[in-house]
Amino acid sequence: MLVFVSVAIDLALDRLFTYSVPAECTEKLRVGQLLRVSFSRREVRGFALRVWSESDEEAASAAAGRSYAIKPILGIADDAPFFSESVLALVKWMASYTCSPIESCLKAAVPAAVLKPNAKPRELLFVEPALAPEPTTLTKRQRELYDNIARVGGGWMQQLCREFKTTPASLRALAEKGCVTVAARAKRRDPLAGRAVLPTQPLELNAMQRAALETISATADRPVLLHGVTGSGKTEIYLQAIARELDQGRGAIVLVPEIALTPQTVRRFAGRFGDRVAVLHSALSDGERYDEWHRIRTGQARVVVGPRSAVFAPVRDLGLIVVDEEHDGSYKQDETPRYNARDVAVMRGHYEHCKVVLGSATPSLESWLNAKKGKYALASVPERVAGHSLPEVHLLNLTEETAAYGHVPIFSKFLLDAIAERLKRGEQTILFLNRRGYARTCECKECGHVIACPDCSMAYTYHQVDDCLRCHVCGGWTRVPARCPACGARDFGFVGIGTQRAEAALLKCMPHARILRMDADSTSRKFSHDDILSQFRARQADVLLGTQMIAKGLDFPNVTLVGVLNADASLNMPDFRASERTYQLLAQVSGRAGRAEKPGEVFIQTSQPDAPAVAAAAKSDYAGFADTELAGREEDFLPPYAKLALAHFKSKSDEQARGWCALYAKALGTWPGLTVGEPMQSPLERAEGWFRHQLLLRAPKMATIAEAWKWISSARPAPNGLRVALDVDALSFT
Ligand code: ADP
Ligand code: ZN
Repeated sequence: MLVFVSVAIDLALDRLFTYSVPAECTEKLRVGQLLRVSFSRREVRGFALRVWSESDEEAASAAAGRSYAIKPILGIADDAPFFSESVLALVKWMASYTCSPIESCLKAAVPAAVLKPNAKPRELLFVEPALAPEPTTLTKRQRELYDNIARVGGGWMQQLCREFKTTPASLRALAEKGCVTVAARAKRRDPLAGRAVLPTQPLELNAMQRAALETISATADRPVLLHGVTGSGKTEIYLQAIARELDQGRGAIVLVPEIALTPQTVRRFAGRFGDRVAVLHSALSDGERYDEWHRIRTGQARVVVGPRSAVFAPVRDLGLIVVDEEHDGSYKQDETPRYNARDVAVMRGHYEHCKVVLGSATPSLESWLNAKKGKYALASVPERVAGHSLPEVHLLNLTEETAAYGHVPIFSKFLLDAIAERLKRGEQTILFLNRRGYARTCECKECGHVIACPDCSMAYTYHQVDDCLRCHVCGGWTRVPARCPACGARDFGFVGIGTQRAEAALLKCMPHARILRMDADSTSRKFSHDDILSQFRARQADVLLGTQMIAKGLDFPNVTLVGVLNADASLNMPDFRASERTYQLLAQVSGRAGRAEKPGEVFIQTSQPDAPAVAAAAKSDYAGFADTELAGREEDFLPPYAKLALAHFKSKSDEQARGWCALYAKALGTWPGLTVGEPMQSPLERAEGWFRHQLLLRAPKMATIAEAWKWISSARPAPNGLRVALDVDALSFT
């Protein structure tokens, strides 16, 4: 009986190739395996996606209809499949959902370090005691060495040399006499080697944590949204939920935002589960990554902690997937395939019938709505552990202060006083300054009023090229007004304040303050991120001043003050999620204060204290904020009520990108059920020499967008010089 296999070859051709399977391979062949095949007279490798035999009529007749000969595969590159059937199903789903080639999805699901043709385990020489030697055949020194080795039961050659002050030559001499064996053995490249990890015991959960844990353990038919305020002990809940899975012989995956994957986080998991934890971190060496991945595939490691790509980890008998800080934007990949690991996790749970927990103090509105509709179960932990209270939040109105100072101050007097107070008491302060993106809004320098689109209640983005303001939802535009509609002043500004300027300003007021700055500039060295945090933890600084890098997950007991220098920067982002992000940011940053016995205080500087996100954050009223925001989204037909995708058009010729964007807009405009936005220039008009244009597509179901996209992509394929990409569930509109 002839057997065929469909193979995905890594050339991004977005199609599968059929090969026949020689008799000697049929027995061993499995889907998910890496195969060697010949392609255009070259040997290449590809994944087996489907195996069928001649008796499968439909497939056979399709094969028979071909005008070319089907070649046999050359061999199986690795007997153990890289993908289980369920992960393969997941990858196929992802390809279709994100409208990306299957090859790109397969590639996203296996670390490149594992696929490199020359990747292999590290082998080192291992020395083991063999027969007890005849006393006469050994010198006194050799006898001693042998006894030592026998006592410790053998070891790595290098290590023994160091430990017993000997040389490889002496050990080989022992081997020649038959007293020990020396052989190459795989030695794990351990990313945690040399780091002290203290074992921890489960903490006694409080009643709210216990209830959440029970909900998680009892819910296998749908995801659980774990809504717990900052410091409510979510991580401890995850740890105990995982322990229960391990007890039942099942494994777990824990996704954390890239930026939160600090040694501190890893230590919490390794401290509880020891060697059973594998870490997949972007800072791993290729060798470490290779070994960690294989430890997972062979079942030596049962708990995987990693960033978004860890959602594909080959954990067998998967019992639980945890997505910590599920609202976090770093779960979305911003290149093909543009998947969101949070959503992939939910799908994997569906395919593998395992539990999924999405945890956050500030859930995404997508997940919140799912919980409200009952698609997700909800577990809430509304209070911090051990009777610690949430910090007291003060809003500082920058507009009022501007009137007093004559300009917008970087630091309000109240905030400066509060910092000085901490210095006196030997407590620490975190200062947060959000300066992200190049999108600039147009603000009145006098009153802080931000010019926004009247139809979309969203800040306009200033486009320098044609000196106008554009709305990135509806495509509407306007000129920079002559006078501020709020106060009548004539002076507008387009820029914000950076961390370096803030540092300088603070030092001027408090020359003795020890300040650590943490931003993209200060953390470009590999370990500087950790270094800065360790210094701060060791209380070698009074103030940690940084960008969103410091907003999440940090747990410093001595921090009693958090200052947000300018909440407006986030509020005025030209993005319909600006308000949601601002709430998340303020809640997360505030959550860094008062996490231990000493109570915390938060100061938020803003010129819009009445903005719903700011006002709600001051009261820690997530539910109230979410409900208001959801009502607006429903009215404007925006996610989570609409499905959305952003089409990008890039070309070295502005004409070409603009023209094709308009052409797609026109063609797609006729598609039933599809809401097509105005074709427009992207806020980031030009990047690395490419002109960028974009088109927003919305529909009640993603399938509508996907079908329309499939049609237009084949009816109007991108010509030379043009790059077209679809960002499904886009989180960024720049
Ligand atoms: P979250 O992830 O919700 O921000 P964490 O899990 O980091 O909260 O917990 C905050 C702190 O409280 C940690 O130091 C943790 O060890 C501690 N903690 C968690 N649960 C308990 C508990 N039941 N009893 C005492 N301390 C706890
Ligand atoms: Zn608009």
